[in-house]
Amino acid sequence: MSIEAHKCNVEGCKGFIVFENADFDFKEMDTSKKHGVYVFDEPACSECGKEFLVVPYYVVIDAIDLWNGEYKELESACITAFERRQKETRYTT
Ligand SMILES: [Zn+2]
Repeated sequence: MSIEAHKCNVEGCKGFIVFENADFDFKEMDTSKKHGVYVFDEPACSECGKEFLVVPYYVVIDAIDLWNGEYKELESACITAFERRQKETRYTT
């Protein structure tokens, strides 16, 4: 099992987009084709709730305008950074 964490790209947001990549089945990708691309998962930011798409390269993208091929790749983060942030927010909220 592998957990992927990515930093949210919303300005001022310190949240993370976290998902497990263990259950992805490449054979099942046809059933989850969305926005013109294959999508494994649609995780949301842990803090602002913005939704992102996980595409078959194990990168998380911000689908600005996928129909025109416009998207941004999120910066990959370490899962420990996410856990540290989870602890921080537990005390501040
Ligand atoms: Zn966010």
